[in-house]
Amino acid sequence: MQRRNTYQRTVIYEILRGTDSHPTADWIYEKVKQVIPNISLGTVYRNLRVLKEEGLIIELNDGKQSRFDARTDNHYHFKCTNCERIYDIDKENVVDVDVSALKQSGFSVEKIDITFSGICNICNVGEN
Ligand code: ZN
Ligand code: MN
Repeated sequence: MQRRNTYQRTVIYEILRGTDSHPTADWIYEKVKQVIPNISLGTVYRNLRVLKEEGLIIELNDGKQSRFDARTDNHYHFKCTNCERIYDIDKENVVDVDVSALKQSGFSVEKIDITFSGICNICNVGEN
């Protein structure tokens, strides 16, 4: 049982590592089924939860839908409101957030989580 769980989890993790599209659980489920045909959506959800608890993946939730990401270094996101693609945004590409005022007030900032939203560069040139 433990071994089967580990195998399922490894397959799910590798599928997520193989994409930067920040897919939904449904998308991951369809891919996993190609490798493990009898797996259930519930099992995929359960393994995603465990991977998240282990810190191997992150979950992006906009209140409507969860999307998953195997990139766990601190980075930002851009979500297109037209095509719903989610892009990784490197911190270096946007102005640094100034947390000095927070520090002076006694807060310790451990993570900065920013999601930009708008129209992406693909939609803006009308290729969607
Ligand atoms: Zn778009
Ligand atoms: Mn990401």
